[in-house]
Amino acid sequence: MATCLVTGGAGFLGSHLCDELLRRGHRVICVDNLETGSLANIEHIRVPEFAHQNVDITDPYFVDEAVDYVYHLASPASPIDYLRLPLHTLKVGSYGTHHTLGLAKLHRARFLLASTSEVYGDPKEHPQREEYWGHVNPIGPRGVYDEAKRYAEALTMAYHRQQGVDTSIIRIFNTYGSRMRPHDGRAIPTFLRQALDDRPITVFGDGSQTRSFCYVDDLIRGMIALAESGEHLPVNIGNPDEFTLLELARTVIDVTGSRSEIVHEALPTDDPQQRQPDIARARELLGWQPEVPLRDGLRRTIEESGAEALLGVAR
Ligand code: NAD
Repeated sequence: MATCLVTGGAGFLGSHLCDELLRRGHRVICVDNLETGSLANIEHIRVPEFAHQNVDITDPYFVDEAVDYVYHLASPASPIDYLRLPLHTLKVGSYGTHHTLGLAKLHRARFLLASTSEVYGDPKEHPQREEYWGHVNPIGPRGVYDEAKRYAEALTMAYHRQQGVDTSIIRIFNTYGSRMRPHDGRAIPTFLRQALDDRPITVFGDGSQTRSFCYVDDLIRGMIALAESGEHLPVNIGNPDEFTLLELARTVIDVTGSRSEIVHEALPTDDPQQRQPDIARARELLGWQPEVPLRDGLRRTIEESGAEALLGVAR
């Protein structure tokens, strides 16, 4: 049994990670100040192997027991959150990552940084390989998130090279599943909420921009495989099946049996035109690939969440 520290453990991905680590017999310390996460995501976990500490990681923090793995997920992640919290997002990526790497160093723990496909910005290379350096607008509104993650990657490599910390970096592509917040602005929860309510589905621009959607169970399996490997360089984890936003909207309408129509809204600033992971490294290094196709994942998300949760309280 290993002891795993999960920052951001009360968030969407973090809570699924806590569940899976516990299921595999590990002890889990979840560090989360509930800035964008919720106790509702972890209240079902009632075992002595789990502890939650309400801590803001932009301040130095300590854990007074041995830690074997540090999964660093804490960060605002949806555009609605990081546009509302621009300075906090930069602070979590910088101070928060410093403190968490320092903690991993102290405990001689294996460290995993949850990075993002957004480090590639609006990519000029397609699909995106880990070797691609990206095309990011540092001063646009999304820059606070993209550059915080790019800084966090640089910091992680510096702790590895200079301080000998055993680090890894996962570049997560769009992931979906239960516990996404219905009003967090991301495409799948928004489309599901609108479809289940038979309201118009709002597609940004003409909907020809593409995304690749990974079901949460696949993502968590890849994340743990990377943490438990000896790899230090970034690894893309995501589903390479690519859909236009229009195709996604039609699929959601179909899966939910909705009567919603599709309407178009203005494109947000610096919205990437294409997003698709090249997962050759994950396949080769980890023997990992996604298993859940979009339609199945959407059905599982609806089943696990229940329509009420997907519709949200602010109906
Ligand atoms: P989320 O908002 O649901 O979870 C983030 C968690 O971090 C929340 O529980 C929040 O309360 C916590 N947090 C934020 N600031 C904190 C602070 N200062 N101290 C302590 N806790 C803090 O987001 P998510 O979708 O679960 O994303 C988790 C991680 O994965 C993020 O780092 C995100 O950048 C990365 N990621 C997610 C996706 C995706 O599709 N969901 C894609 C790429 C990368």
